[in-house]
Amino acid sequence: MLNEFRRNLVSGEWVLFATGRAKHPPSPEEDRQYTAKETCPFEDLKKSGNTPVWFYPDENNWRIAVYENKFPAVGQGMHVDSQTQGPFEIQESVGTHNLFIYKDHERRLSDFSVDEIVEVIRIYKRRYKEIQDAESMARYILIFHNSGKEAGASVYHPHSQIISTPILPPDVAKSVSGSYRFFEEHKKNVYDVLLKWEMESGDRIICQNDKFVAFCPFVSKYPYEVRIFMKNAQPHFEQLPDDFDDELAEVLLTALKKIKKALNDPDFNMLIHTAPTEPTHTHDYYCWHIEILPKTKITGGFELGTGVDINVVDPDEAAEKLRNAEV
Ligand SMILES: [Zn+2]
Repeated sequence: MLNEFRRNLVSGEWVLFATGRAKHPPSPEEDRQYTAKETCPFEDLKKSGNTPVWFYPDENNWRIAVYENKFPAVGQGMHVDSQTQGPFEIQESVGTHNLFIYKDHERRLSDFSVDEIVEVIRIYKRRYKEIQDAESMARYILIFHNSGKEAGASVYHPHSQIISTPILPPDVAKSVSGSYRFFEEHKKNVYDVLLKWEMESGDRIICQNDKFVAFCPFVSKYPYEVRIFMKNAQPHFEQLPDDFDDELAEVLLTALKKIKKALNDPDFNMLIHTAPTEPTHTHDYYCWHIEILPKTKITGGFELGTGVDINVVDPDEAAEKLRNAEV
């Protein structure tokens, strides 16, 4: 049984591990309306009134369609500098919110081939760069994938999202400044230290190849949380050379398949944390990574009231279970 606080090496956040607590099993509730192909808004995109951005490989034979989100979290318009209202600073929410819609209604990312995941990675990078080039005021661009209702996907049909924001999200800001501070204090890259230690221990590693490794972090906030890192730490995902895509796809797909097998196909969130768009040397010590967060947890009052997460699964045990899942 594990009972301890662990402090995140990068962000300084605390996580309480209490593995003796009752575990919340995933409850995959079947909702016919939600999953039905007949009522799916992504089956006939033209009819649904969505606005296309581009198609891959082309409009007639597309496997991935990039669309503007009909219900964007950030609005279109001209960027304006932050304003004040009373004692508050206000920043208008202007940016891009696109969807990457995958062709097949029933195939989740874990059902894709390595080649199809390579295409997904390339399209992520391409659209990221396009948005970065078009929006000088975008301070952060997040790519994420909500799979299933429990993970917040309002549409069942598999799709990823990209969103640019005029503010630097606090989580990212904390990690970036944390990694910079670590370098100032220790003259070492915090991710090199972290990865070296994880590689030497091996206890939390799920799968790896020459260039990438997937593991359950020592300070996991969530049960079965998985992170994928490049072994040679780099700040910017979108600058990943194309000849790294195969190996990234291999590790990502293996991790997704193991999560599906070991945890009974849970809903999950996947997100890519990369350095902010602004070119500054303080980002040089950050390392882009992919986080996969299976939905096995219900957040309660303690977490909400303290900002300290309670993780009911020991990351060593989580990694062992995922590592041993045959895919
Ligand atoms: Zn569909």
